[in-house]
Amino acid sequence: MINTWSYLADYESNRDDILGIVDKVFSSGKLILGDEVSGFEKNFSSFCGLPCGVGVNSGTDALFLALKALGIGHGDEVVTVANTAVPTVAAIRAAGATPVFVDVEEDSFLIDVANVESAISVKTGCIIPVHLFGQPADMAPLMQIAAAKGVKVVEDCAQAAGAMYRGKAVGSFGDIGAFSFYPTKVLGAYGDAGMAVTADGDICAKLKRLRFYGMESAYYSEEEGYNSRLDELHAAILNFRLKTLGDAIRKRREIADYYSESLAGVGDIDVPAVKTDRSHSFYAYTIRTGRRDDLMRYLKEHGIESRINYPSPVHLMRGYHFLGYKPGDLPVTERLAGRILSLPIFPELPEESAREVVAGIRDFFE
Ligand SMILES: *Cc1c(COP(=O)(O)O)cnc(C)c1O
Repeated sequence: MINTWSYLADYESNRDDILGIVDKVFSSGKLILGDEVSGFEKNFSSFCGLPCGVGVNSGTDALFLALKALGIGHGDEVVTVANTAVPTVAAIRAAGATPVFVDVEEDSFLIDVANVESAISVKTGCIIPVHLFGQPADMAPLMQIAAAKGVKVVEDCAQAAGAMYRGKAVGSFGDIGAFSFYPTKVLGAYGDAGMAVTADGDICAKLKRLRFYGMESAYYSEEEGYNSRLDELHAAILNFRLKTLGDAIRKRREIADYYSESLAGVGDIDVPAVKTDRSHSFYAYTIRTGRRDDLMRYLKEHGIESRINYPSPVHLMRGYHFLGYKPGDLPVTERLAGRILSLPIFPELPEESAREVVAGIRDFFE
């Protein structure tokens, strides 16, 4: 079986290093908020070109605490997209705010900035662009609208570690960038982990308080906070994996280039558009076809796993029915949901397997 992703290939090739890290951390006498966490905060925020990173429990918490740190909550609206992972919306709701969904660009799957201005109301506190599948949203016009309207921007960078827009890293455009290090992500831990990055010293200090019961020093809370800490163990593994992130992304791009060269013009397939002013991390490689379900079944029968990211847009899920959206509200998003298919892509994917994926797709259309 060719899987879309498994951490086991990474573990197999780095087993000795990982077990060495586990032993080092367990022998250090410090398991929570120690040198590994502060080291990783420094390393990863520098990687993003920023002075501050705050390690938290997950990408969802990075988004939630970002909204809290910016004072976004009850009564506020947050403009975002519905073709995202549920956590984008769960974080907005956890902060007490209301998501307002806008439609996306068909070829890139990203927020269509042309729709943003009309979605902004007097209640809008924030925009959350999602750098979906590893490609940055069109940040220049988006930041212009945000500045003109006086609303904040939190970037959902969960799928896009290492991606760049006009030569600058994602996470460095908005007020705060929120990253996930969930194991499948481009930079993955061996468990849950996340980080909020920012250029603003006050926001940085506030994020650090919020993740730790509002405390600046032991046993005294300065403001109401939460528990959302990054473990030393995961930080140490992330410090190790950060060193090879550049190589890992290069490998993802090689696979993506190979797929795009080999699949353009096959059947009715549209390969994903990569915008010229951006570099893509290829968390997912997602094609579009009118025969998606049949193709997926055919590939599975031939030992090739594929995924749909995502089968239902969030605005049509039962869990978010109360928001009042109905089919037809986001035509491009809804059309995409029936046509998208993500192919196996991860740094350790053997060339031979990528060739089998292409051959399988070609056979299906012949
Ligand atoms: C994974 C993901 C998140 C949430 O990250 P977790 O670490 O799983 O909480 C948020 N937004 C997007 C777009 C994601 O893909």
